[in-house]
Amino acid sequence: MSTSEPPSSAASFDPFRALLDEVGAFVYTTDRQGRYTYANRLVLELLGGHALEYVLGKDISHFFGETGNAALRETDRRVLEDGETLVREETNLIAATGELRTYWSTKKPLRDATGAIVGLLGISHDITEKKRLEDTVREQNAMLDAILENVDALVYVKGADRRFRYANQRTASAFGLPVERIVGALDSELMPVEAADRFWEKDRRILATGERWAGEETLFDATGKMHHYWSVVAPLLTPNGRPAVVGLSTDITELHELKEELRRQATTDGLTGIANRRSFLAQAEREFARSRRHGTALSLIAIDIDHFKRINDELGHPTGDRVLREFAAAVAATLRSVDLFARTGGEEFCILLPDTDGEQATVTAQRVRELAHSVVVDPVQADWCLHLSAGVASLRAGDDGFEQLFARADRALYAAKRQGRDRVNRSGDDENASSAR
Ligand code: GH3
Ligand code: MG
Ligand code: MG
Repeated sequence: MSTSEPPSSAASFDPFRALLDEVGAFVYTTDRQGRYTYANRLVLELLGGHALEYVLGKDISHFFGETGNAALRETDRRVLEDGETLVREETNLIAATGELRTYWSTKKPLRDATGAIVGLLGISHDITEKKRLEDTVREQNAMLDAILENVDALVYVKGADRRFRYANQRTASAFGLPVERIVGALDSELMPVEAADRFWEKDRRILATGERWAGEETLFDATGKMHHYWSVVAPLLTPNGRPAVVGLSTDITELHELKEELRRQATTDGLTGIANRRSFLAQAEREFARSRRHGTALSLIAIDIDHFKRINDELGHPTGDRVLREFAAAVAATLRSVDLFARTGGEEFCILLPDTDGEQATVTAQRVRELAHSVVVDPVQADWCLHLSAGVASLRAGDDGFEQLFARADRALYAAKRQGRDRVNRSGDDENASSAR
């Protein structure tokens, strides 16, 4: 086709013109001087909405002036003069709107029957939106990477086939492996089978119910140290429809240890290291209920050191403290693991003895009383023995709560004090009740 031919000759190509108008790409041909010999609907719209007949024989500068893109002219020259076929991405300034648009363009020489170049065929796809989308995806991926690598948590995605599909650097570090070794691996390849099965049991439930889960988890790291995590695991439906779970686990090992330490401190007496009054009462309530339920024996020994004030007054408070510590250690060493030994006051102690009747408990109380004698109060005054008074009480059928047992042991203790100290007094729980020294 050339401009010297009458425009009407295009009529015989009508089916092709209709087709080319619908291809969704810019299609045009020019002669060697860059004058249009054909332009489809999209090109005509770009040139200002002219009819094809108007456009034919005119070059691009007719429409956009001489300020046309120099790079564009250079590519045209390479096609027309050097016979190259160029396939490339082009960015063109749309003069009418001042907008930059991106095209995927093919430019190829048109040759006549002798092979001589007579013009150029151009096909361009507008890929501006695709490019924008790609840029957005790239930007979002970069943001997501920055978030996932900087968030103080293990982040991973695991499929219904139990294989990891994603793991951030922190997850990889927890397993002591590079990320590439984790992605694609089965959970059982990364941790002991029992642990893998335990996690999978939860993951399976999340996949089945579609409900997220949050709670504490534990996992040994590559060095064998146990870590505690606060985890949130949620179902994730990926665009390809393959079910998976996404997990976010924050390492709370330090917090967990702190919590354990606080729990220990809250239940332990700071001076002697044995149970404190609060934890004693709580455990005693449970023991009391258990004994009631099973109909088993339960006895309590209440202890108060005799004339303890004298130790403080004559030897000083630190000596009093040492005596309390040594007494507690000596007693703790002789008790059964089921016995509950606690410091319930300044120089007051209690021993709760499960499965023990009043008689057996009295024997234990005597043993403790004698043990006290061996605690050195003052190395200088070797005859200064530590003395204590103790009250023993046992569970009765009519007891409603531990307080009743506690009150009886306390009354027996103060009776022992009245009777002259350094003695064990058994509460009148039954007809065998007696006072003993
Ligand atoms: P009694 O034979 O009547 O029990 O005489 P006591 O002196 O032991 O009785 P009291 O209850 O009057 O005195 C108990 C003393 O125990 C008073 C208090 O200063 C001392 N005490 C309480 N807690 C501690 C402690 O943690 N360390 C020391 N060193 N002394 C304590
Ligand atoms: Mg006291
Ligand atoms: Mg006392």
